[in-house]
Amino acid sequence: SKATLFDKEQGVKINFKDVAGLEEAKEEVMEIVDFLKNPKRYTALGAKIPKGALLVGPPGTGKTLLAKAVAGEAQVPFFSLSGSDFVEMFVGVGASRVRDLFKQAKEKAPCIVFIDEIDAIGRARGKNAMQGSNDERENTLNQLLTEMDGFGTNSGVIILAATNRADVLDRALLRPGRFDRQINVDLPEKEERKAIFKVHLKPLKLKDNVDIEFLASQTPGFSGAEIANLCNEAALIAARKKKKEIDKQDFLDAVDRIIAGLEKKSKIITPEE
Ligand code: ATP
Repeated sequence: SKATLFDKEQGVKINFKDVAGLEEAKEEVMEIVDFLKNPKRYTALGAKIPKGALLVGPPGTGKTLLAKAVAGEAQVPFFSLSGSDFVEMFVGVGASRVRDLFKQAKEKAPCIVFIDEIDAIGRARGKNAMQGSNDERENTLNQLLTEMDGFGTNSGVIILAATNRADVLDRALLRPGRFDRQINVDLPEKEERKAIFKVHLKPLKLKDNVDIEFLASQTPGFSGAEIANLCNEAALIAARKKKKEIDKQDFLDAVDRIIAGLEKKSKIITPEE
């Protein structure tokens, strides 16, 4: 139903302080916050405010979080939908959903529209002719392009879209006046992992042998989502052992468990390749 797709207009309480690391990406989206807060400063000079930006990076690196933080900082509504929601829709449904979404967004402007997994609708047209749902996907993509072109540059609606595969996107999406800006959201380096740990350790009851420097050194290749998950796993392990505080060993056990989980996942995938 309509509600399942668009009920995510939230009173967003996420701010930039909730997004650790990603300094460059934050710097870039700050401009968007300013467009939303002070549109007149731009329009008075005759500038056209960009309609959208693409957040590009691996899963779990904070793209959704960053988009919510933009809405939070600008204090505007946040609408979201996922490209994968559109994949199995009947003919005409995807396109009408896109129309509905933009209608709602225009009514609530200024606002942010966030499209997660845009590659699910935005893959280059005419390449996957084997897939049955392809026509419908193309209809949906065409509707999205039509909507983006249709609403005025200074309508107050800014679309942020996330993908981990910018290379597969239809070039039409990347043209000036559409998603003409790309913002990289990469896996965190050690210093950034420390900052992410700081955010996610804050609500936890820790023993004083838990050292952020050490945790960051033990987690190369972890995304922000995996770090958040690790912190919670450590808390669960400590609780199961009826501890009063979470200690270093709980974190080490949680790292082992998460790495074992990741290895299992890749083993399941490998034989099919
Ligand atoms: P996907 O591509 O899988 O949708 P994503 O890039 O949108 O992932 P998020 O959904 O934003 O990732 O991140 C998931 C969770 O991981 C966040 O809600 C947050 O708890 C944590 N997280 C990820 N990145 C960061 C970060 N930079 N700072 C703090 N927390 C983070």
